[in-house]
Amino acid sequence: MSPPGHDNNSEIGDVDPETKRIPAEALVVADRLRDEYGIPTVRQMPPLEELVLTILSQNTNDVNRDRAWMELRDRFPTWEEVLAAEIGEIEEAIYVCGLAKAKASYIVGALRQIKEETGKLNLDYLSDMGPDEAHEYLISMNGVGPKTAAIVLQFSLGIPAFPVDTHVHRVTKRLGLIGEKVSREKAHEILADMFPEERYLDVHINIIRHGRQVCDARRPLCQNCILNDICPSRTV
Ligand code: SF4
Repeated sequence: MSPPGHDNNSEIGDVDPETKRIPAEALVVADRLRDEYGIPTVRQMPPLEELVLTILSQNTNDVNRDRAWMELRDRFPTWEEVLAAEIGEIEEAIYVCGLAKAKASYIVGALRQIKEETGKLNLDYLSDMGPDEAHEYLISMNGVGPKTAAIVLQFSLGIPAFPVDTHVHRVTKRLGLIGEKVSREKAHEILADMFPEERYLDVHINIIRHGRQVCDARRPLCQNCILNDICPSRTV
């Protein structure tokens, strides 16, 4: 099989806008990763909890995200208590995950907006919206970008959305599924068009696993990679 996209002049990995044809290479990648890493099982949290957890996860690792989450929930068991707290107390509780000042203001801002607009402190009403409306609503919040919105939609509400984190962005670029200059933001749209909706979850999670275990940012282990025969960036 030739490397992805090598047989035409379009951007590597482009989805045909007329037919929405899914590139065969994308499905090969999805299937091989599923064979290697399996079908992931995921935790399902209510959407507001998922939103706050995902804000905490920005620019940090899972361990520190989880420590910040536990501390926040221990100190303020309800969202009402978070809203009533001093912002400095929130920053202190989530300090371990970094960017505490910004993240505390995003969390409190989101809670305030939700409370003002609905009188409640949950995001359950998102499931009554269409995917685009729910996406627009989430990204209208300060500190919520396309990745955070997609995680809430896909993981918590089962509304199809393809989140692109740093691993997904790097690995799909190396595989030639998206072009070199495609931004992470733009990659959300391209990859959502490229994979079938029912595969978003396993592809997203398995690409992250592959990025962590094999296709490392600095030292990709191409000799051990199950995709090296189709990867235009392989080093061996
Ligand atoms: S062959 Fe190398 S660069 Fe390509 S996906 Fe595998 S580890 Fe990454």
